[in-house]
Amino acid sequence: MAIPPQEMPQQDPKVRAHNMNEVALGYTAEMAKTEASRCLNCPTKPCMQGCPVAINIPGFLQKAAEGDFAGALRIIKETSLLPAVCGRVCPQEKQCQKFCTMGKMLKDVDKAVAIGRVERFCADLDREQTGGASKKPAPPSAPRTGKKVAIIGSGPASITCAADCAKAGHDVTIFEAFHKCGGVLVYGIPEFRLPKAIVRQEIDGLKDLGVKIETNFVVGRTRKLKDLVAKDGFDAVFVGTGAGLPKFMGIDGENLNGVFSANEYLTRANLMKAYLEDQAATPFWHGKKVAVLGGGNVAMDASRMALRLGAEKVYLVYRRSEAEMPARREEVLHAKEEGVEFHMLENAKRVLGDDKGFVNGLECLKYELGEPDASGRRSPVAIEGSEFVLDVDTVIVAVGNASNPLIPATTEGLEVNKRGNIVVDPETNMTSIPGVFAGGDIVLGAATVILAMGEGRKAAAGINAYLAKKSPSA
Ligand code: FAD
Ligand code: SF4
Repeated sequence: MAIPPQEMPQQDPKVRAHNMNEVALGYTAEMAKTEASRCLNCPTKPCMQGCPVAINIPGFLQKAAEGDFAGALRIIKETSLLPAVCGRVCPQEKQCQKFCTMGKMLKDVDKAVAIGRVERFCADLDREQTGGASKKPAPPSAPRTGKKVAIIGSGPASITCAADCAKAGHDVTIFEAFHKCGGVLVYGIPEFRLPKAIVRQEIDGLKDLGVKIETNFVVGRTRKLKDLVAKDGFDAVFVGTGAGLPKFMGIDGENLNGVFSANEYLTRANLMKAYLEDQAATPFWHGKKVAVLGGGNVAMDASRMALRLGAEKVYLVYRRSEAEMPARREEVLHAKEEGVEFHMLENAKRVLGDDKGFVNGLECLKYELGEPDASGRRSPVAIEGSEFVLDVDTVIVAVGNASNPLIPATTEGLEVNKRGNIVVDPETNMTSIPGVFAGGDIVLGAATVILAMGEGRKAAAGINAYLAKKSPSA
């Protein structure tokens, strides 16, 4: 307990609010060792209960504390395929670190062992020293089975599923709608939180395992899912198409010029590199006074991106209080440090426009908290007559995403629930169609990277067992 928590070095907020470089700079080896040595090696391993993929956390921390970072990474990789990603974006304060004895003893979750930061260090060091997954010899695969697996989408669920199926000896092809692979890791989460070079190396690692990749391929349009099986000879299919359908507020003025879904705004900025103005293949809207509606990670990313794209004022408008915000604490803190102005207990009522159809204001209402609702959080209650106007020229709506509907709409017999999420067998992740599996946000609804990875791994085990039954040679 005497060892102080190691703070993560980071770029100065005033500087970083105007550049795309990563905010958190990472531990030094000495800091990583010191932080790992804070672990008490608790016999009951409470931190592991909070990890969706049950990483042997005390095991890897022990190795890191000894300075054996390669050994630590080996332990992490037994259960997690993307430690450099998860070390950066997992909500550790709600997962492993929430259960950490050290944090409990010091009565502050922020003083728990910084498990994610040590994980990130181990993965980054390995990448620096060996060039990452793409530069290493591919791990040995099982003998070729002659079976073909189609993976639809290329987010964390699909990356994990593709790797596990390829290692089992199957012939794996990824079909991705965009021109680049990585899902939300490349089109949603900004460069300043997750450098794209890291994701690229993981994708290169998949290619080294023999995984083929077809981009600009929209299953349901370019080819129907059932044709992948009936005409192209795939023996099993994994659907990992995510939750990329933005929700809107349904208020007046939402169709004015200058209103965006956070998905579109971030996709143009990240995937199409709108911030490199002279090179970007996309037009970009230069909002000067921007309101972002919502309180999750997507809202934080959109508001911080708006600052980096030149906004003079960014208001984050959220109808509950900060305590109910679903965003990661670190992102909330970073957004505030960078100058995003938080408007809590307020909500948009109507977007105002000029006579040419461009946004020139946002009418809001003030709110107070009522009784807890179905989410367990106190419900937001509008205060009648409390209207006021925010002076803005841009509104970014970040109030949630629903499942991508294209595949269910074009695949007869694929069962979905009332939210549009694909229904799967919880043990195998097989859908209502034999041989078709699904996982990640398309099953869970908008969730997290680590949960998507866990789903991809479970589905791969389901696929491998299914194919083994189909052919005794597999
Ligand atoms: P996705 O990552 O959504 O990937 C789905 C892929 O399928 C996409 O590439 C899409 O183009 C492709 N696709 C869709 N339809 C088709 C089709 N018909 N044919 C072919 N391809 C198709 N989680 C965290 O843990 N921490 C965070 O900090 C965090 N921040 C986030 C910030 C943003 C802006 C967003 C949007 C999400 C964030 N999340 C975060 C959530 C997390 O990124 C997702 O839960 C996760 O990426 C889901 O993975 P997935 O593989 O299911 O799908
Ligand atoms: Fe170490 Fe915390 Fe896990 Fe205990 S709960 S083993 S202190 S990381």
